[in-house]
Amino acid sequence: MGLEQHAALGGAKKGMGEMELRDYQKEGLRKVQDALDDGKNAIYVLPTGGGKSHIIAALVKHYSNAGKRILICVHRVELLKQISHTLGQFGVEHGVIYRTEYCADAVAVASIQTLVHKRTAYKYDLIVFDEAHHSAANTWIKIKDLFPDARICGFTGTPIRNDRRGLAGMFDVLIEGPKAKDLIASGHLSQLRLWSWPVVDLTGVRTFAGDFNRKQVAEMLDNRTICGDVIDHYNRHCAGKKAIAFCCTVEHAKNVAKQFTQNKIPAKPIYGLLTEGQRNILVDDFVHGRIKVLTSCDLISEGFDVPSASVGIMLRPTKSLIVHMQQCGRVMRINGGNNYGYILDHVGNCLRHGDPQATRIWTLDRGVDVETENLMMRCKKCGALDDNGLLECPECETEYEYKIEHVDAYLRLYGDKNLPTLERMAIALNTRKAWAAYYRVAVKVGA
Ligand SMILES: [Zn+2]
Repeated sequence: MGLEQHAALGGAKKGMGEMELRDYQKEGLRKVQDALDDGKNAIYVLPTGGGKSHIIAALVKHYSNAGKRILICVHRVELLKQISHTLGQFGVEHGVIYRTEYCADAVAVASIQTLVHKRTAYKYDLIVFDEAHHSAANTWIKIKDLFPDARICGFTGTPIRNDRRGLAGMFDVLIEGPKAKDLIASGHLSQLRLWSWPVVDLTGVRTFAGDFNRKQVAEMLDNRTICGDVIDHYNRHCAGKKAIAFCCTVEHAKNVAKQFTQNKIPAKPIYGLLTEGQRNILVDDFVHGRIKVLTSCDLISEGFDVPSASVGIMLRPTKSLIVHMQQCGRVMRINGGNNYGYILDHVGNCLRHGDPQATRIWTLDRGVDVETENLMMRCKKCGALDDNGLLECPECETEYEYKIEHVDAYLRLYGDKNLPTLERMAIALNTRKAWAAYYRVAVKVGA
């Protein structure tokens, strides 16, 4: 099935020296092992791009060396290839369970769909779920039922179900690796710069499978005027940089690519129905700069990684925090001299779900703590988003609109933002020396 070929083009090619885990990966590995050895099912959380496949491979190697039988479950063939390749890099012998391929190896990477349909007579001691936020789905529960005695661990950047509830019931402990901000600070992820210009009103759009009805949204978004704006914004903020446009439907992706190309920006749609060979050519053209924009519907999210993209053009509104964070995570990987990732959000995902690189609090029972979200300021002039409690736009330096009053011993700040955002602005305000010297007061916010 061309595993090696795909993995090489998918950007996973690395020298032997890189098989050494980073410090936080070693720490994560140790904590997961401790939990498993303690008889607990563990889920490990690490942002997209943090290198969880390396931790998975090291974990599998550890238990494989101890004589355990291990099954790694994935739900997409792209992930299967990626994990298989990484296991190879770590020198772990393994087989693959996919469609007609079946194996008795002590270590196997398996497609969930194939496992559920064909079952297996083999027993495993440890089941590893990659992209474990899918573990609430029926198929995952079936897998758990197939191997009732096995210990289970999962890996994900977003340990929640699509309805944002937690993964309690499936896992006993949640182990967190570094947050996005830590990985940005340590140079392992690119910092994101965000802009948002919501172009359509989604009120009244029907819901399908828990998300906006894509066909309906595509009809609203797929037109020349909107696409013209999209291209303008790309030219203004990210001209010449390699971009992925996340679209609603394949048709939408094709049309967006056509418009970019007509505007002298080489673009191509990439989608599941293309052959692997065709996709590989597109990715290669993109990596070498012959294509500047790849437009995609679904394909470039989990598992299918396009190296060297630094711009995410959001054209698919989603109600799913998982989808939002994964799409943005695609452009946070460090490539060469690229210092930033750029998000050009035309559908309000960042305003709906908040900054993808913000620190969220994940728990097994409550899911994601919503208080950590929706704290973005949006510049009325340029559309830039910011959640650092600044007083002016970090991109164009336009001052945010707010009203400030000096009442008794307090600074009172009024604006159309929610309280936590105002509080942060107030704190930022007070740390400016001139203001602090003048007022000499504690800053409090009230309405
Ligand atoms: Zn601005």
